[in-house]
Amino acid sequence: MTVRSKVAVIGAGAVGTSLAYALLIKRIAGEVALYDVNKAKVEAEVLDLAHGSQFFNPSSIYGGDDLEVVRNANVVVITAGAKQSPGQSRLDLAATNVAILHELMPKLVRLAPDAIYVLVTNPCDVLAYAAVKFSGLPTNRVFSSGTVLDSSRLRWQLAERTGISTDSVHALIIGEHGDSEFPLWSQAKIGPIPLLDWKINGMSPLTSDELDEIAAAVKNAAYRVIEGKGATNYAIGLSGARIVEAVLRDEQAILPVSSVLHDYLGISDVALSVPTVVNAQGASRVLEFEITDGEAAKLKASAATLSESLRTLGLK
Ligand code: NAD
Repeated sequence: MTVRSKVAVIGAGAVGTSLAYALLIKRIAGEVALYDVNKAKVEAEVLDLAHGSQFFNPSSIYGGDDLEVVRNANVVVITAGAKQSPGQSRLDLAATNVAILHELMPKLVRLAPDAIYVLVTNPCDVLAYAAVKFSGLPTNRVFSSGTVLDSSRLRWQLAERTGISTDSVHALIIGEHGDSEFPLWSQAKIGPIPLLDWKINGMSPLTSDELDEIAAAVKNAAYRVIEGKGATNYAIGLSGARIVEAVLRDEQAILPVSSVLHDYLGISDVALSVPTVVNAQGASRVLEFEITDGEAAKLKASAATLSESLRTLGLK
């Protein structure tokens, strides 16, 4: 834990509370402040978490429906807003959540002027772009969790198929956190072996049909979980906590977070996920590398989809 590490979590719903729990039990934050407009809910969630404090000492948890709890946070993670209903796309949520952010962001920046801001609320790429606009902060300090969760889902799928630990599977989903996202197969590796050469029991590598199946399973993972239990929370809680950890520990970790890009492979003025160095400055640097023409075209298509949403919402 860093000497002074306060993380404010905005929204005490399924995602916000799982994130708070992960931050506490992994001892990533010294203080976690939980804020929600629903007083009864946030107070109950804080109490429930605090009842476990014996097991995550010396970290502390507090919060309520007074935005003052956010004051001087080092990192603010925004999970507040409406969520995806079964069958609803992430972009359908946009207008409601942009309006909430428009009201919240300036207030948050007044209370925590030096914080790094991480958007988790969906559509998180659109909201990251909007939050930069509403806050006036530099783009490294306001970004979204992007495809960190999707990449973890991909690694799990590949680990299941190959029998290799998720830690030794290196694979990324990039682009929109949503329907136009895609796996960077050309860069994926199992240990030191390119995924496209990987053989199982001496048999041929994963076929292109299998790769398509995996990509589709990752893309539709949220819909499947939401259908069964109404929300996705644990894996996004862990993904958010991982990003916060990289910031607070000034790790220089490479994570596929989503920040506003400036001339990245010809893409500008839109937030989407690409491999990014995450440290105490936030999304400090995006990494350029060789991708195939097909992947570059998919990334441009993803950027075009997001740009179109930004225009529809009047954000650009
Ligand atoms: P939820 O309905 O359980 O919780 C949302 C909370 O936000 C509620 O408690 C509500 O009272 C609160 N809220 C609403 N307006 C607020 C405001 N102005 N200020 C403070 N709090 C406010 O929803 P959830 O399941 O926790 O999901 C939250 C968001 O996270 C959704 O947009 C969802 O789509 C998104 N999400 C993103 C990812 C990702 O990978 N980026 C993954 C899962 C969920």
